Amino acid sequence: MYTVRVRFAPSPTGTPHIGNIRTALFNWLFARHHGGKFVLRIEDTDRERLVPGSLEAIMDGLRWLGLDWDEGPEMGGPYEPYFQSQRLSTYQAYAEQLVAEGKAYPCYCSKERLEAMREEQKQRGEPAGYDRRCRYLTPRERSEFEAQGVTPVVRFAIPLEGETTYHDLMHGDVTIQNRILDDFVMLKSDGYPTYHFSVVVDDRLMAITHVLRADEWIPSTPRHVMLYQALGWQPPQFAHLPIILGPDRTKLSKRHGATSITAYEEDGYLPEAIVNFLALLGWSYDGVTEIFSRGELVARFDLDRVGTTPAIFAREKLDWMNGYYIRQLPAVDLAARLLPFLQKAGLLPADVGPDLTAYVEAIVPLIRERINLLSEAPQATEYFFREELRYEPGLLVQKGLTPEKTRTILLAARNAIAAQGSCEAARLEETLRPLAVELEVKTGQLFGAIRVAVTGRTATPPLFETIAVLGCQKALARIDEAIAALPG
Ligand code: GLU
Repeated sequence: MYTVRVRFAPSPTGTPHIGNIRTALFNWLFARHHGGKFVLRIEDTDRERLVPGSLEAIMDGLRWLGLDWDEGPEMGGPYEPYFQSQRLSTYQAYAEQLVAEGKAYPCYCSKERLEAMREEQKQRGEPAGYDRRCRYLTPRERSEFEAQGVTPVVRFAIPLEGETTYHDLMHGDVTIQNRILDDFVMLKSDGYPTYHFSVVVDDRLMAITHVLRADEWIPSTPRHVMLYQALGWQPPQFAHLPIILGPDRTKLSKRHGATSITAYEEDGYLPEAIVNFLALLGWSYDGVTEIFSRGELVARFDLDRVGTTPAIFAREKLDWMNGYYIRQLPAVDLAARLLPFLQKAGLLPADVGPDLTAYVEAIVPLIRERINLLSEAPQATEYFFREELRYEPGLLVQKGLTPEKTRTILLAARNAIAAQGSCEAARLEETLRPLAVELEVKTGQLFGAIRVAVTGRTATPPLFETIAVLGCQKALARIDEAIAALPG
C-alpha cells in the first residue's frame, strides 16, 4: 500500500527560524492529512556550522507546537539512523558506485589551485565553476595523486549535453540546461557528504514520497534529479513552498518581528496561535476563513490550496490571533500558562500553592481581554501581587477635586466598604454608587480616586470586580495608605 512519507530535514546550525517551522508544519499537516509518516532527519554534515544546543531547540520547538514526528531522533524507526553524520559509510558506498560507473570522479585539486582558477575566471569575466580538470585525468595521473597521499573530494560528472526537467507540484515543469551546472562536490575530503548528495541518498533510502521545502531550493533540485538519474532511482515528488516576505515585501527578517521559535515561546505566544498563523503563510482554505483548529487544519490541508505567490508575514495579525486564542482558553488553562510568566517577573514565588493558583484563576477573567501575549500579563496584573504600590500620589486627586475633598471621599469609601460585610462586586457597587450623591461628587471622581488608591492606576479592569478579586482587606489597607500619601 502506498503511504505518504515526508520529512523535515533541518541542519542544526542555530535555533529554527519561523520560516523553517512553516516548512515543518506543512510537512506535518500533509502527513497527518494523508495518514502518512512525518520523519525528522538531522542534516548535520556541515561540521563547521554546527551550533551546540540547536538540535534541542529544534526538537523543543516542534514539541511545543505539537508537531510530533513518527521517525527520527528519540523515536528511532525503520530507516535508522536519522542523523546524517551517522550515515557516512552509506554515502561513501554510493559515491564509490558512481565513480566506478564513471558518473562521478575523484578531484585532487588543491585549495590553492581552485582559488587561482577562480581568480582567473573572474579576471576573464567568466562564470565561476570548476574547470573539470580532474574529470579527465588518466588512470595513471590518478594513481600518482593517490601515491602522493592527496585525499580527493568526489565530484559529480554533470552530463555535458541536454537538459534536465523535473515537475514541481507547485511550479510545474522546471527545466535547466545541463551545461550551465558545475561538477559539484558530493563527498568532501573529510568523508562527509555535501547537502546535495546526502539529501538525495537519504530521501531515497528513507522512502520519502514528497519533498516539501522552501523555494530557495528550486535551483538545487535539477542537480538532485540528475543524481537520482545517475543512481537509477525514481525521484520523489517535489513541492516548493512559497517564499515568506515581510509586509514591505522584502526578505523576512528580525526587522519584521520574525525570530526564532524559542523567542516566540518566551514572548508569550500560544502554540495554537503560531500553528494557525503559520498554516496561513502559503495555504488558504477559502481565502476568507482565518481561524482553524489543529483538527480542522489536518482535515483541510492539502497542496492544491498552497499558492505560489509570496506569503506575507504580518506580526500584527499574529498578535491579534494570539489574543483570540488567549480569550478562547478556559480560565484555569490560561492561568496555568500565565504562571511561568508571573514567576519570571517576580510576582509569584517558584512554588505556587493552591491558594495562589486560585487567585490567579480569579484574576484571569479580568485581564484576558486586555492582553494579546502571555508576556503582557505581569504588567497587566502587577497590582494584584505587589505588597506596596508605587505611584504618583497626585494621581489620587481627580479633576475638579482638592486633596481635602479626596481625603473625605476616600475615608467615606473606606468606611462604607468596611461596613459592608460582603466583598462581592455587586454589593460593593450597591454600597459605593449612592455615596457619590451623598458626597456631592461625580461617580467618575469617586470611582477614579478609589481606583488609583486600590491599584495605583487610572485604567484597570472594572473597579468592583477588581476589588472583589483583590480582597476587601487588602483594598482597605491600600485606601488607608493612599489617604496617608495624599499631597498636603
Ligand atoms: N538541511 C536543509 C535545510 O536546512 C534541508 C533542505 C531540504 O529540505 O532539502 O534547509
